[in-house]
This record gives sequence, C-alpha cells and structure tokens, in this order.
Amino acid sequence: MAKTKGRMERSSYPNAVQRVIDSFNALPGIGKRSAERLAFHLLKASSEEAEGLANAVLDLKRLVRHCQVCFNLADDDLCSICVDERRDRESILVVEQPKDLLAIEQAGAYRGLYHVLLGRLSPLDGVGPEDLTLDRVLTRIDTPEDPSVGNAGGVAPQEIILGLNPTLEGDGTGLYLAEQLRTRNVRVSRLARGLPTGGQIELANRAVIAEAIEARRSMEG
Ligand SMILES: [Zn+2]
Repeated sequence: MAKTKGRMERSSYPNAVQRVIDSFNALPGIGKRSAERLAFHLLKASSEEAEGLANAVLDLKRLVRHCQVCFNLADDDLCSICVDERRDRESILVVEQPKDLLAIEQAGAYRGLYHVLLGRLSPLDGVGPEDLTLDRVLTRIDTPEDPSVGNAGGVAPQEIILGLNPTLEGDGTGLYLAEQLRTRNVRVSRLARGLPTGGQIELANRAVIAEAIEARRSMEG
C-alpha cells in the first residue's frame, strides 16, 4: 500500500480527476464537495465545453494586462474606459484594485476615468509608495499630453477623487496622495462616508456607492 502523508487524503480517483478536483478546491469559496461536483460535470461535458474552459483560463493569463494609463485590467494597451471618448476625462477616481473599479462601474453613477493603485500603503507589510502606481497619478496630471503615460485623450485632469477603502491603510494612502496633489492645480475630493468604516467598496451596494460619489467631500481647506 502506498504511503500517504501530509495534506492530501488518499484518493481513489484517477490522478487526472484528482488534479482537477484539487485545482478547483484551491479556488476561493470552493469546498471539496463543490470541487468534486465541478470535476464530474466536466468529465461528462463535451470536449468543446472542457476545452473552452481550459482556453478561457489560459487566455486570462496570456491576454489580460494592465492599462498603461490607469492600470485597470485590459486586453490592449489601454482599457475600455480610457478609450471611451464619452467619458469625462477631466475627472479621475483613484481606487485600490480593479474589483473596486468594477463595483463603482456597476453602480453606474460615475462617468469619469479611474486610476488603480494596485494596492494601498502598508508600512507594516513593507508596502511603500514605490510598490504602487501612485507616481503615475502625478504623471497623468503633470504631462497629460504624453501619448503613452499621460491622461486619456491628452486631457488635463481637473478633479482627483479618492475612492480608497475606508480602512486605516486606505485612509493613510489617501492622505499621502492628497499631500502629493497639494501643489498641483487640481481639485481633490474623497468619497463621502456612506461606506461602513472598515468596509470594502467591492461589497457595498449600488445605492451606497452612488451616494458616496454624489456627496463626495472636498479635501481642501
Ligand atoms: Zn485605462
């Protein structure tokens, strides 16, 4: 009998089935039971369906990148929001992650551009300004006409809205950025505190997000 040790229970599944189960099980929110159900679904599915899933996962890693201006997810140099001429390009809403942007887009209350920091300042975890895209917010303001790193359409931003999560680290990141913006000729505001403290933008409902944008507060004075 083969020795079993460590994390994996001994399995009577063929290896190829067990690999799929383990892969699903490693995803957030997918327990062992669900992973088995998905694996058996795929086992019964047509080759086209199984290949479609496999290729979609591969493409996700091959094709998706960050917009070179705002760092939203994109499948080209610029994301769909930066290329959209109907957006208000004078306004930039700064968020931590692409999923925050998605939640705000779904609320449908904002028509400007975004800037995704890809994180937040966290000195205790060793995350400093150079680990985020903070300096690129300043580039968009200072040289909007730059074709590769300037603002979309070469339009000079007039308002920066801080849409960081209402946590200690989110607040710290917002204050840091506001300090950098002080000497620049832009209005700086932040989302109103409709969002629960310590809460996450991605989990807030649409009405709360819309209200937080509508009632945003100036950070001047
Ligand atoms: Zn973009």
